[in-house]
Amino acid sequence: MCLVAVTTTMGRFRVTTTRLLVLCALLAVVSTRYCVVSFQQVYDRPGRNNNNAFFLRTTSAATTATASTTTPSLSFTSSKQVTGSPILLQSALADGDADNNDDPSSAEAEPTSTPADHPYEYDLAVIGAGPVGVQAALLAASTAHKKVILIDAPRASGQLLNTQTNEDLSIGGPTGLFSKALRDAAKRIKVPTLRGMGLREDSIWNEITGVCVDLASFNAKDCRRQLEYAGVTLVEGYAEFEDGKGSHTLVVSPDNDGSSSKGETSVVTTDKVLIATGSRPFQPADIPFDGVRVFDSDSINGLKFLPKSVVITGSGIVAIEFAKIFSNLGCEDVTLLIRDNSPKNALMKIGLDKDIAATLVADIIRSGIKIQRACEVDQIEVPTAAGSSTSTTTPGKNSFLTPLKITLKAKGGTECRPANCVQEIKADAYIAAVGRIANTEKLNLPAANIEMDEYGGIKVDSKLRAVGPVDGNVYGAGDVLGRPFLASTGVAQGVATVRNMFPMDMPFMKDSITADVSCSIEDEKEGRCMKVEDELLSMAAACDPTSLVANPFAFPVGVWSSPEAAYYGLSMSQAKEMGIDAGEGISLYAECLRGLVFSPNGLLKLVFQKSTGRIVGVHICGEDACELIHYGMELVKTKRTVTDVASSLFSAVTYHEMYQIAAKSCMDPKAARKRRVEAGRALSKRRRNSSQMS
Ligand SMILES: Cc1cc2nc3c(=O)[nH]c(=O)nc-3n(C[C@H](O)[C@H](O)[C@H](O)COP(=O)(O)OP(=O)(O)OC[C@H]3O[C@@H](n4cnc5c(N)ncnc54)[C@H](O)[C@@H]3O)c2cc1C
Repeated sequence: MCLVAVTTTMGRFRVTTTRLLVLCALLAVVSTRYCVVSFQQVYDRPGRNNNNAFFLRTTSAATTATASTTTPSLSFTSSKQVTGSPILLQSALADGDADNNDDPSSAEAEPTSTPADHPYEYDLAVIGAGPVGVQAALLAASTAHKKVILIDAPRASGQLLNTQTNEDLSIGGPTGLFSKALRDAAKRIKVPTLRGMGLREDSIWNEITGVCVDLASFNAKDCRRQLEYAGVTLVEGYAEFEDGKGSHTLVVSPDNDGSSSKGETSVVTTDKVLIATGSRPFQPADIPFDGVRVFDSDSINGLKFLPKSVVITGSGIVAIEFAKIFSNLGCEDVTLLIRDNSPKNALMKIGLDKDIAATLVADIIRSGIKIQRACEVDQIEVPTAAGSSTSTTTPGKNSFLTPLKITLKAKGGTECRPANCVQEIKADAYIAAVGRIANTEKLNLPAANIEMDEYGGIKVDSKLRAVGPVDGNVYGAGDVLGRPFLASTGVAQGVATVRNMFPMDMPFMKDSITADVSCSIEDEKEGRCMKVEDELLSMAAACDPTSLVANPFAFPVGVWSSPEAAYYGLSMSQAKEMGIDAGEGISLYAECLRGLVFSPNGLLKLVFQKSTGRIVGVHICGEDACELIHYGMELVKTKRTVTDVASSLFSAVTYHEMYQIAAKSCMDPKAARKRRVEAGRALSKRRRNSSQMS
């Protein structure tokens, strides 16, 4: 663009010079795109892929350009199906970018590595290109100017793939990307309206998945563009430590379960290693997962039809998210199976405040989602064209006409479901969202002497350094470390590891991503609250999983149900447990004008320390809660009081006005309660009227 500007202002004489410059830039682009990384070939490694004769290949511009013109569609690929070579993807940007004036592949976008003081090919090898691996690789390459290789296998348990273009849409995106896209599609596409217009079910589903493909594809392209710009070498393949070579040598192969017969295995030597291989869903035994009608929370990405009825096991964030998604997509019969007696208790176990949990449960029930309590799945019968079967089935047209038969058994023998009670329900599709486990089993961790925790995650110290390797050069970040299994905390860990690896190259970065959370709860009389501050700060500074999950100030939590739920800081019960004399102030969405008009269901709650008025927790359930929580987080972090918020001027007509209403209610709880009762009555009347009219 700069060149174009120069050309127009300086006249014809300069055109020739400009063309020469453009030609030079193009040559630089071409040479960057087609450079091939030299990998040492390994043919005779004992016990591992000895028969493989893989080869490295670049993604050709022609292939991607042609493919991108066809209609996109989503597919799920299991790891067993993924075969082929480790692919050098650094040039994968070629599709459609040839005429992009902002093409970053110019001379200045060359890898900016400083001379290495070690004998290895790379300064850093990152394993896994989820959000954590990608962000860490970008930071190390662009800020610390390191020579970085990013190795990514197709998703261990499920891959978002554009079947038309063969493009891996999951790169750089969280595993939850599909659910977010589906949620967005459910908001934009009104399925009942399309059905009313006579559209066929498969056309409606194509419309919905089209929206998801667009979103995921945009994210994947942007991610590749950024990696190329930063000079990160991107390679597709499974990485594992090499036997007998310690913690600096990785073997990259297309498929390390031995089922592949073609391709090439390569060796990468590196100074540091970051393991960011993420997690996969836990699959309870005896459930016939087939990725066709019986899914886990990853393989659901490959759903090929719009079910009319869905059964979901789980009471965590993911289960609720999917229940609301399918309900909003016009699914007539959605059932949640929970082990607890009370759905509210189940939600409180994942950290929600009791009133927020109650609001969410009320909304789930209002939207027609059924809740089966105190139960678990005993058996699932998957019908096939030939007849019923409990084993995995291949999709056949006929089998979809017959629903799954799901037998429930009591869990715990409680009052609401006696021990011997067996129940059968039917559904088009089943999803288990019952927790996740770390992806470590294919890394050959013993070769690098890396220790694992009791759940199979990588054991790390407070600097996120893997426990075990003699050189202390291996780090871990994200889901592979276990709870809290969030993209936000994982990325913070990824940033922290890069900073811990290369402190001298990142002097301007803060010592810790969370150390500036000044969350002291001063209560001189008790003294113990000061202790809370010290503990929180020292734990938060490490960013390690133990600190993160134990620290209520470490990160905000968002539940992408609709309405959303989110919280930051302490709940009333947590504050009490810590010995803080706390109070709370509430505002209903129906009490602020924007809420009343657009989205009246929900509430915002401030938890505050009575002696000082300091806000120590914020809890929201309602429209945009996952956005609104960040203002609440700043109030807590900057030690603002309810008086500060009550006397601030808020813009009308916004949801933020609820913060002021809640702050005022802390000061005059009696009057506030009366106002809420009035607002609640008016809302119920409005609901009754609108249901009568419809
Ligand atoms: C339905 C759902 C909804 C969610 N919603 C949210 C949310 O709202 N907010 C939030 O913060 N988080 C959410 N999450 C969690 C979030 O998606 C994860 O925490 C995040 O994706 C973890 O990132 P990661 O980079 O650690 O791992 P992943 O995203 O799992 O990426 C790891 C990568 O490593 C690759 N890999 C594995 N083994 C190897 C190997 N041996 N060699 C090379 N590569 C390998 C995998 O194939 C994968 O590409 C949700 C998750 C789900 C399932």
